[in-house]
Amino acid sequence: MSARIINGKAIASNLREQLTEDVKKLITDGIRPGLAVVLVGEDPASISYVSAKERDCEKVGIYSRDIRLSPEISQDKLLKLIEELNADPDIHGILVQLPLPEGLNEETVISAISPDKDVDGFHPVSIGRLVLNLDGFIPCTPHGVIKMLEAADVTIEGSDVVIVGRSRIVGAPLANLLFRKAPGGNATVTVCHTRTRDLAEKVRQADIVIAAAGRPGTVTADMVKEGAVVIDVGVNRVEDASRQRGYRLVGDVDFDSVKEVAGAISPVPGGVGPLTRAMLLWNTVISARNAGSKLA
Ligand code: NAP
Repeated sequence: MSARIINGKAIASNLREQLTEDVKKLITDGIRPGLAVVLVGEDPASISYVSAKERDCEKVGIYSRDIRLSPEISQDKLLKLIEELNADPDIHGILVQLPLPEGLNEETVISAISPDKDVDGFHPVSIGRLVLNLDGFIPCTPHGVIKMLEAADVTIEGSDVVIVGRSRIVGAPLANLLFRKAPGGNATVTVCHTRTRDLAEKVRQADIVIAAAGRPGTVTADMVKEGAVVIDVGVNRVEDASRQRGYRLVGDVDFDSVKEVAGAISPVPGGVGPLTRAMLLWNTVISARNAGSKLA
């Protein structure tokens, strides 16, 4: 039996349609959601991520301010810029593209963003609110995974979920979202990492497997329970001479073999990636709405 393929592009497109309506309504109420996208340096992957985020804003009617800075910028100057954006009423979300060049402290820079405009959800206040199960900005990739499971009608509550990866941007916040007592949560979660003993045995117990390790082939067919739902967060470049650019993108899951055992599976590309981008727009709209209700 071949698994149902979960189409992240289509789910993200539906979310963008809904957000376009939300943006129209906000504009009628006198608030145009605005996102500042700050890119320091010239890393090609970061440039392409940032450009995609700006295109997404345009599609749904969000104002985006594109701020490109030299990799030589001092930390003080960058912090000053963030301070100005924090005070700017046209900007509801501030995104500083990571990683930052050497010499800039990511922790300090992210902490300088006002928690009210932290649409990436990486500020310690946002993470604290998530852990405490309070309202706040949810990091985009974990939030995208939850939206994907919900849109694909996967039962989260009561399920055994295994996450491979415990990073601060994916694995750890996703675990919190999945086990918290709230809609989209109430699962029983196991988080695996490089010190996990017998990864295969852990993954085999899962009704839902989420791979976020950053290594191709981390999850193979022999590790997956028949009928399990497999979500692949990984994005890895592997050399491919047949492609003009010399590489192709693959996830952490051995897609071809796992799709023969799983009940449903998300592909790479076209899976979690589009949802991550949609959730950034989502957070920006929420932030604009919050700003509006403070004015009212
Ligand atoms: P990361 O910071 O490198 O963390 C990887 C995690 O996976 C770590 O916790 C690591 O364990 C664990 N791990 C690595 N190899 C493992 C193995 N063989 N067995 C068990 N655990 C293993 O990576 P990240 O930032 O979370 O990103 C993970 C992947 O998701 C990357 O491919 C990234 O490109 C992708 N990503 C995709 C999106 C999207 O929108 N689709 C967004 C963000 C990230 P330790 O903690 O023990 O080192």
